[in-house]
Amino acid sequence: MKCQVIVDMLERLAPKRLAEEWDNPGLLVGSFQQEVKKVYICLDVSLPAAQEAIACGADMIIAHHPMIFKGIRHVRTDLYDGRLLQLLLSHDIAVYAAHTNLDIATGGVNDVLAAAVGLEGLEGLAATDEGAGAFIGRIGCLPEEKSLDEFVQQVKKGLHAPCVRVVRGNDRPVRKVALCSGAGAEFIGRAAFKGADVYLTGDVKYHDAQKAVQQEINLIDAGHFATEFPVVAVLADYLRQEAAALKKPLEVITDTVSADFFEYA
Ligand SMILES: [Zn+2]
Repeated sequence: MKCQVIVDMLERLAPKRLAEEWDNPGLLVGSFQQEVKKVYICLDVSLPAAQEAIACGADMIIAHHPMIFKGIRHVRTDLYDGRLLQLLLSHDIAVYAAHTNLDIATGGVNDVLAAAVGLEGLEGLAATDEGAGAFIGRIGCLPEEKSLDEFVQQVKKGLHAPCVRVVRGNDRPVRKVALCSGAGAEFIGRAAFKGADVYLTGDVKYHDAQKAVQQEINLIDAGHFATEFPVVAVLADYLRQEAAALKKPLEVITDTVSADFFEYA
């Protein structure tokens, strides 16, 4: 099918108008007119991911993080970004990114994260600039209360995270949980204000942890990668279903070479 048909499927799930103003979602490489038989889904278009996509015969890569953000001043093939572009263009691979629009969308990254850690009754955490019912982050409840230690184990299991960082801000049992996938430390105050017992996110710094303690909210930093990667499989299933509904052949595969950059030594 045409690349445009797949883009239409993606934008029904995560309309581009939902994206934050600074973001750069959409078709970043290739043409809406090109034929696509196989798509490859990942968080980041790295060289290893692009190489895996090529080895698998994919025609299109769908990524969460945009590989092009700002103006390109050169395409130097002795540098990483230029080499990556050369590789993609020389294999006729289209690249599409669904970033903050997919974070915000119903059924997107944050809803997938909430489901993976067992939350119910979800509401939005913070209204976006777009307003009109669009929210970044989610707040919901566990079906039954748990200790913080039990919930930490549930998060590790649900996200396949070998390790998480925990900040103890209160000793209440955990029932109400707020979360934001990726780097969400800016919403610690919002989560506390909304009465969450725990706030789950990634990319937390020392002074963010201090703020959580001062606002008496527990914090779980499960990492940027682990809080976002579950959306890859969900997006793959979504595209398979959409293609099946159109009765059009489309193969969908997912990144098996990427992992969190951080190791625990
Ligand atoms: Zn991210």
